[in-house]
Amino acid sequence: MSAFQNAMQQLDSAAEIAGIDPAIVDALRTPEHIREFDIPVQMDDRTQKVFKGYRVQYNSWRGPYKGGIRYHQNVDVDEVKALGFWMTIKTAVANIPMGGGKGGVTVNPKELSEGELERLTRGYVRAGVDFFGPERDVPAPDVNTTPQMMAWFADEYCALRPGATCRAVVTGKPVEAGGSEGRGTATAQGGFYVLLAALEKLGMPVTGTRVAIQGFGNAGAIMAELCHAAGMKIVAVSDSQGGIKDGGLDPRAVLDFKKQHGTVVGFPGTQTISNEQLLETECDVLVPAALENVITKDNAANIHAKIILELANGPTTPEADEMLKERGVTVVPDVLANAGGVTVSYFEWDQNIKEEHWTETEVFEKLKPIMIDNFNALWELGVTQQVPLRTAAFVVALKRLAENRG
Ligand code: NAD
Repeated sequence: MSAFQNAMQQLDSAAEIAGIDPAIVDALRTPEHIREFDIPVQMDDRTQKVFKGYRVQYNSWRGPYKGGIRYHQNVDVDEVKALGFWMTIKTAVANIPMGGGKGGVTVNPKELSEGELERLTRGYVRAGVDFFGPERDVPAPDVNTTPQMMAWFADEYCALRPGATCRAVVTGKPVEAGGSEGRGTATAQGGFYVLLAALEKLGMPVTGTRVAIQGFGNAGAIMAELCHAAGMKIVAVSDSQGGIKDGGLDPRAVLDFKKQHGTVVGFPGTQTISNEQLLETECDVLVPAALENVITKDNAANIHAKIILELANGPTTPEADEMLKERGVTVVPDVLANAGGVTVSYFEWDQNIKEEHWTETEVFEKLKPIMIDNFNALWELGVTQQVPLRTAAFVVALKRLAENRG
């Protein structure tokens, strides 16, 4: 099944539970616009190469299209459409006044120099300048695109369409180029607020709760620090090279070790485990924060955690979801668990539009109630309709989209 067919299947089953008007479901099957364009780029050797660029403007009922731009050799229109649909659901679950979109360029960015990447990014903006805009379509970073590229994006757009608020055309910029404080830690921080709310609903304590985290990168390492500071026990963490297990790790010391050695593996006093073993570790909370499709029908029966908090996008396969539901494991779905990132992206846009700059404390004071309210909305629906939180997230999103239909 293609990614887009899979997305449409999720739409159908949630629409049935939510009792959504078929006309609305039909409208949600089709992106509002699919933009495909050629981007000519002058290469360092003075030849010209033409790259294929895409922007799917999926849905704008709730606000301007919002979603990242991906640079990858496998990018195609089907994938970008599916990702645009999921952004439409994610912004609705996050309850921010934005729609869904996604973009990409079919390119292996590792084969391009920095100068070539800059010219490619500026070329992407020139090709799409008529349909991007702070009130129309607001991209962000995604796989292989960086804050620096977003700064080039804003710079090029502002040269073509100058104005006091032109930098609001893109988010994920470095702070000095109009980015938001707190964006770097927002995904973990948002996930942490949701985890506290989930522990409370399940009557589980905070102190002493055992947490295992797959992926010790931006999202996973910060999550580990937040949980540790709150009194939870970090019992296992991993990265692409493997994992470590211990009665209670100090995430800061592990991070220092990783900076020196390039991996968490070998941290003194710990037992080395594989990434597969990490998922099956004795713990109360499992946080996948690396790759998609890691929790599958082959390991779902061996997972000990009572809560799975999906900081990664798409870590659980549909078959595993079904098995975890049967076993009573609470899966906090990616569309909510990692929505702190997109919510602070929205804050960045809002600050640029209002020509303001908020402190990190202000950013997190605004983030916390949004994450908790959205968790509670999903929880209530899950309890009343007897459905898992992932289904509840789709149902809540579809209801919000239906209310906002233009
Ligand atoms: P990152 O690149 O900073 O970290 C990824 C971590 O995963 C690294 O520690 C890496 O070593 C590890 N990893 C890579 N391959 C692995 C493997 N085979 N097994 C185990 N670990 C492996 O990325 P990130 O920003 O922390 O993002 C992690 C996940 O969270 C991704 O799925 C991403 O889409 C999702 N996410 C991140 C954000 C954000 O704001 N950072 C927002 C939404 C979703």
